[in-house]
Amino acid sequence: MRKQIAAANWKMNLTIAQGEALLDGIIAKPHHLKPEQLVVFAVPFPYLAMAQQKIAGKQNVFIAAQNCYSKKSGAYTGEVSVEMLQSLGIKWVVLGHSERREYFAESNQFLAEKINIALEFDIQPIFCCGEPLSIREAGTQNEFVTKQLEESLYHLSADQLKKVVIAYEPIWAIGTGKTATSEQAQEMHAHIRAELAKKYGKEVADEITILYGGSVKAANAKEIFGQPDVDGGLVGGASLIIDEFVAIIEGLK
Ligand code: PEP
Repeated sequence: MRKQIAAANWKMNLTIAQGEALLDGIIAKPHHLKPEQLVVFAVPFPYLAMAQQKIAGKQNVFIAAQNCYSKKSGAYTGEVSVEMLQSLGIKWVVLGHSERREYFAESNQFLAEKINIALEFDIQPIFCCGEPLSIREAGTQNEFVTKQLEESLYHLSADQLKKVVIAYEPIWAIGTGKTATSEQAQEMHAHIRAELAKKYGKEVADEITILYGGSVKAANAKEIFGQPDVDGGLVGGASLIIDEFVAIIEGLK
C-alpha cells in the first residue's frame, strides 16, 4: 500500500520561537495516523535540529530540509550537503520546488544531480513538478510535466524511484489562493502515474506517492486527497496555522 503524506513547507517563514510553538501546537493535538500515513515538516535549515528533537519518538512524523546541494562537500560557501542532513538524522528533502526553479534557476538536470546525491545518502526526495499558468492556458501541461519527470527522474532504477515522492504543484495555484479543482488534480496525477507506468511498469507506478500542492487548506484537503491518485499534499501557507494543518492531516484518506 502506498504512503499518504501531509507535508508542511514553512518556506522562509517564522522565527525559531514561532517554529517551536507551531510544532508544539500541532504535535499536542491527537492524531489518528494509520501506519501508511506520514506527517513531514519541511523547516528552514537553522531549525532542523530543534525540529528533529521535538518529534523524537513520534511515530510517522518526520522533518525535511527544503533543499540541499548537489555535491558531497567542499568549497561551496553557503550550501548545505546531504551528509550534513544525514548527520542530523534527517530522512527527507524537498527538491525542485517551483520557487527554487524560478528564483535560483534550478534546472531539471541540476535537480537530477540533487536527487542522486540525496538517494546516495538515504534521504528521500519530495520531488516537485508542475506547470506555470501560460502552459496550463496553452493546454500543454501534460507534456511539460512529463519532461520534468524524464529529465530529473528517468535515469533512476525502479528501486531508486520507489524512494522518491512526487509533488505535483501547478505554479498558478501556489500561494495564490487559487486551487486546482479536484478533477484537475486527479487528471494530472493520473497522467503522472500513467507516464511512470510506461517507463517502470504499472506495479512500480502504483507504489509511488504523488502529493498535490497549491493552496491546500482545511476546507479543501479532504476532497482533493479523496481523489484516487492523490496521496496527500504539500502545503505552504496553511501549514503555518495549527488548526488548519491539523485538519489537513485529518483529511488524509
Ligand atoms: C508550497 O509551498 O509548496 C505550496 C503549495 O504553497 P501554498 O500551499 O501556500 O500554495
